[in-house]
Amino acid sequence: MKIIIIGGGVSGLAISCKLAKEKIDNLLIEKRPFLGGRAYSFYDNNSKEEIDNGQHVIVGACKEFIKFLSEINSIEKISFEKKLRIPVLNKNKLVNLQSHNFPIKILGKVFSILQYKHLKVRERMNLLKTLYKISKMKPKDLKELDNENFYKWLKKNNQSTNTIDCFWELFAIPALNDEIKNVSASIGIRLFQVAFIESDINANFAIPNVGLTKLLGDSAENFLKNT
Ligand SMILES: Cc1cc2nc3c(=O)[nH]c(=O)nc-3n(C[C@H](O)[C@H](O)[C@H](O)COP(=O)(O)OP(=O)(O)OC[C@H]3O[C@@H](n4cnc5c(N)ncnc54)[C@H](O)[C@@H]3O)c2cc1C
Repeated sequence: MKIIIIGGGVSGLAISCKLAKEKIDNLLIEKRPFLGGRAYSFYDNNSKEEIDNGQHVIVGACKEFIKFLSEINSIEKISFEKKLRIPVLNKNKLVNLQSHNFPIKILGKVFSILQYKHLKVRERMNLLKTLYKISKMKPKDLKELDNENFYKWLKKNNQSTNTIDCFWELFAIPALNDEIKNVSASIGIRLFQVAFIESDINANFAIPNVGLTKLLGDSAENFLKNT
């Protein structure tokens, strides 16, 4: 039996490489002259730069994607930030939201918020209180918030517009592809449990050192040719 995969984007490449690794015969068909789908790079003659399209943010939580990069021998082409470090530009002022290496890891993040100068001291305290509340919430609590709006929930929990802009939206927009006003409270809260509370690395950035085509399409093609 031969398996046919239509489309050489990240999904098609991942399954084709997986099957090839398992020695299962498969044919990958791509209509465009390059692999990678929406995640690719091109050379821009004006700027003389290689420009990426798609997949701008890789974070520690992208576990399957990171595993795929390892499988196609491309993991060396990205650099992992060892701790959470997000440079945040607001009103022309650049401030890092940055965790610290404390023996008890969660304290490193608490300290990052205590030092986060885009927020007033009272806003930092309210933020910590709400994150603590989120850390204690169980799946059944989240289910009850399925129909509640995340923005309204944050407002109810004393989050100012400034805190929403400078903290909550920072994570929500890239992870959920939408503004907090359009997201359900259960999804929003779960995001912060996964990204900020349950793991030390989920919110850390990983930055490709090469263009997306070299990272994905070319590496997957090499892997398939040599497997
Ligand atoms: C501007 C932009 C920014 C993004 N930023 C991020 C980000 O920061 N983080 C993140 O995780 N994701 C990001 N994404 C999303 C991510 O790039 C996509 O989710 C991912 O690349 C989709 O992969 P896919 O394989 O599912 O689909 P696609 O990449 O769309 O692949 C589908 C492939 O199928 C091919 N195809 C279609 N029809 C046929 C046919 N009939 N015959 C043969 N081939 C066919 C297409 O040519 C294409 O190569 C971004 C996307 C864009 C466009």
